[in-house]
Amino acid sequence: MSRLSDPPAAPMPAPLGLLAELTHRCPLRCPYCSNPLELVRAAQELDAATWGRIFAEAAELGVLQVHLSGGEPMARRDLPLILRHAVQAGLYTNLITSGVVADARRLAELVEGGLDHVQLSVQDALPGSADRIGGYAGGHARKLEFARAVRAAGLPLTLNAVVHRQNLDRLPALIDLALELGCGRMEVAHVQYYGWALRNRAALLPTRAQLDAATATVAEARERLRGRLVIDYVVPDYYAQRPKACMGGWGRQAIVVSPAGRALPCHAAEGLPGFTFPDLRHTSLREAWERSEAFTRFRGTGWMPEPCRSCDRREQDWGGCRCQAFALTGDAAATDPACALSPQHHLLDLAVQEAAEATDAFTWREMGRSPAPAG
Ligand code: SF4
Ligand code: SF4
Repeated sequence: MSRLSDPPAAPMPAPLGLLAELTHRCPLRCPYCSNPLELVRAAQELDAATWGRIFAEAAELGVLQVHLSGGEPMARRDLPLILRHAVQAGLYTNLITSGVVADARRLAELVEGGLDHVQLSVQDALPGSADRIGGYAGGHARKLEFARAVRAAGLPLTLNAVVHRQNLDRLPALIDLALELGCGRMEVAHVQYYGWALRNRAALLPTRAQLDAATATVAEARERLRGRLVIDYVVPDYYAQRPKACMGGWGRQAIVVSPAGRALPCHAAEGLPGFTFPDLRHTSLREAWERSEAFTRFRGTGWMPEPCRSCDRREQDWGGCRCQAFALTGDAAATDPACALSPQHHLLDLAVQEAAEATDAFTWREMGRSPAPAG
């Protein structure tokens, strides 16, 4: 473990996983989408051969698994070829999909190509509400059909439920849905407020009572379903006293590659000003991970301001989330306001108050039209 006076630890151990954002294209329009406000166009996307080179470099670096994500990765017609490159590199492959553009033939191609696992997102347990939140009529029914096809093909399936004020009351039904679909794992992830979600924060932020009920629901279900369903639970920062170790710490555990080939410490980082993220068309993954200024700037503890600098938790939460610090304070190097020790912690109370007075109206994600930043 590094001490306060240490330089950033280098070289780092290999990242645990690589999140390959193959495209930002997606037929859905979730108002909390983790893609950036400025979406990458199809013409700027990396080709399959370049993804193949990145996967080979990832394996050489020590990465074990790749998440084929987006946007909607099935929007890429060459997904089977990209998958083949990942399998040839020896990586465990996980497809993260909305499930609405898949058909049996395309799924069979991926199964034959060696796909190991599928993670399917759902917007709600009620079809009407799910379709409204995703901005895609008939989407929920297609997801269920896809989930059944995945299980029929013998692939393990994880259900990914992003929860917020407008669907949280159906959390018990979402857990039942995971069971009904034969999932072995479920991720219940409260919305994280950057990018599109920050724009829609007032319509999405749950109440304290909803959050407490959800936490109790997860605890009860974990106990009751032990051995049948593993539930991962990501809580929101807005009612927290201490922040999470976002991404396990900046540049410590994961590497994200954007559709245009930028290497990022997390999917929201591209919105931070003053960074030049390594372009993997011209830079190796090892160079980006071990030596780039973008990955090392907030690695370790040397960059920290007070109160983090002298805090006992600095090597547990690594000062919280840089993107949240920037989104709320305008300074990516500030202590995450989710921490009660931050001088700007009151900003979260203001957001909770604002949400209590807001309507449920969304700005849906839209290609080619970036909403104005939340004011
Ligand atoms: S969050 Fe919704 S809109 Fe964004 S990529 Fe996923 S399914 Fe598509
Ligand atoms: S002061 Fe910094 S290191 Fe300490 S708990 Fe808060 S965010 Fe974490």
